Amino acid sequence: MTQTELSVRQRRRRAHALLTKTHPDGDCIVWTGSIGANGYGQYRTNDDNLTSHRLLWELVFGQVPEGMAIHHTCENRRCINPYHLKLLSPAAHLRHHRLLTACPKCGSSRWQQRYRSDGRPNGHRCMDCHARAERARQRRTTKT
Ligand SMILES: [Zn+2]
Ligand SMILES: [Zn+2]
Ligand SMILES: [Zn+2]
Repeated sequence: MTQTELSVRQRRRRAHALLTKTHPDGDCIVWTGSIGANGYGQYRTNDDNLTSHRLLWELVFGQVPEGMAIHHTCENRRCINPYHLKLLSPAAHLRHHRLLTACPKCGSSRWQQRYRSDGRPNGHRCMDCHARAERARQRRTTKT
């Protein structure tokens, strides 16, 4: 069943159920429920396992257009305040997070955004540079 088929009552009930698993942080509505492997809040419904911010966005604004990414303008990806979310094309979204550029050190494209445990961004990391540093560190510790 798609979101558009939900009655107003079902929407309200679902939005309410989502909001019981949050706490306010300034303007942000921070998700306190379970967090998926992707770092986003997850909400299990009868038929699906959805990210909680996307679910609330859809309850408020309707279906997310096919292929669009949801960006957190507040940069806290635990936040599910629909007014802090903005639809971007996947390319624009990658550009925003500066993920279309290569690693400035080694030129690798495995350049990723890092996040703190509270869901806020914490700079970038090159997975290749990180793996190299990790190998070097291991060599040092096995030597001594
Ligand atoms: Zn927010
Ligand atoms: Zn984003
Ligand atoms: Zn690198």
